[in-house]
Amino acid sequence: MKIWFKYLSKTQKIILFIAGGLFLSIILSTVLIPSQKKSSNIKFTVENSIREIAPLLGVTGKALARELGLDIRIKKGRPLKQYGIKQEKLDHAVEHLKSHRPADRKYIVFAALVLFSGIFLLRLGKPDNLPPKLRQSSFPRTPLILTALFSIIFAGFIFGKSPNPMESSVKIFKALAGLYSDLNAKLLAFLFFFALGIIFNKIVCGWACPFGALQEIIYSVTNSQKFKFRPPFRLSNSIRVILFAAMIILISGIILNKPGFVIFHYINVFNIFNFDFDLFSVIVTLTIILLLSFFTYRPFCTFICPFGLLSWISEKLSIVKIKVNQSKCVECGLCSRYCPTDAIGAKVKDKSVVPDCYSCGRCLNICPKDAITYSYKKPEEVSNEK
Ligand code: SF4
Ligand code: SF4
Repeated sequence: MKIWFKYLSKTQKIILFIAGGLFLSIILSTVLIPSQKKSSNIKFTVENSIREIAPLLGVTGKALARELGLDIRIKKGRPLKQYGIKQEKLDHAVEHLKSHRPADRKYIVFAALVLFSGIFLLRLGKPDNLPPKLRQSSFPRTPLILTALFSIIFAGFIFGKSPNPMESSVKIFKALAGLYSDLNAKLLAFLFFFALGIIFNKIVCGWACPFGALQEIIYSVTNSQKFKFRPPFRLSNSIRVILFAAMIILISGIILNKPGFVIFHYINVFNIFNFDFDLFSVIVTLTIILLLSFFTYRPFCTFICPFGLLSWISEKLSIVKIKVNQSKCVECGLCSRYCPTDAIGAKVKDKSVVPDCYSCGRCLNICPKDAITYSYKKPEEVSNEK
């Protein structure tokens, strides 16, 4: 960090202070300015029907029925006690549905995190005055770790689990299955995260998603490669694809005849940000993922997350991303050793299938030939400027 700061040019230092100041003031203002929204604290009882309760919670009758463990096709006008629902179960379902209400200010937090990280990688990751021999020791880890901490605190624990990129991709299918009435709003929420991913290549996963950040910090506890392993991309991606397909098939009710069944509900690790540990399957998934994160990079993102899959598919369309100047690269393999995924190795070899790049920046300054850039320009154009 010291070396990096020392060799920043004057312009870079000004950019750092303006971007950092803006970032902090935006994040703090989302917390300090009081919210105009009043939360409803109406008490529901089992004398009420689904038709009476659901609209007040902002969900469809099908969603409430599913939450209560009932068939989503049941009649919605009868008192819940007629279906054997106990008050405790109703209270729990209401709390859970309320926890899915998106905190709108969190979108601002996500945008601020992505903007700061984008500016950092684009303009500050490589100090202008850095002598070539110091390049390899100059990429600072502190900004990534600090941003990850901000994400966990603000986009995680302070504003709760909702919204988040993973949820945004699942909610579209829930809306299509009739569990939400506002399909357009769900599409917009997804497009927000998807657009952030496309502009800065998955940076929303790499620097802004709170669960991604949690895994990032755990992985960074030790840098020793002795303890790290990279699962084959074909295996991790196949599991991610199978889970995604299973979600679509199960939610539609084609298999199991339980329309509205959401597989990710049972492994929703984002529940940690609401301290919601009611489902045993969530506790097991969380424990496995957090333990695995010490040894492998972002296991939840690479094996499970539907947004991880969709943003990987769209990486080719990304505007600003890690690029390799093939004419400078001597294929020494140094960048591959530092990359926590197989992404840079595949980029160097110009392969058609490139594993997820989370724009973590670890490879940015590592190349002895300075062949790696994070830019919207073609790598050759960036090199010609120097
Ligand atoms: S892939 Fe990882 S970082 Fe991206 S949304 Fe999913 S959990 Fe978050
Ligand atoms: S080290 Fe790997 S994951 Fe990180 S930015 Fe470079 S290519 Fe992407």
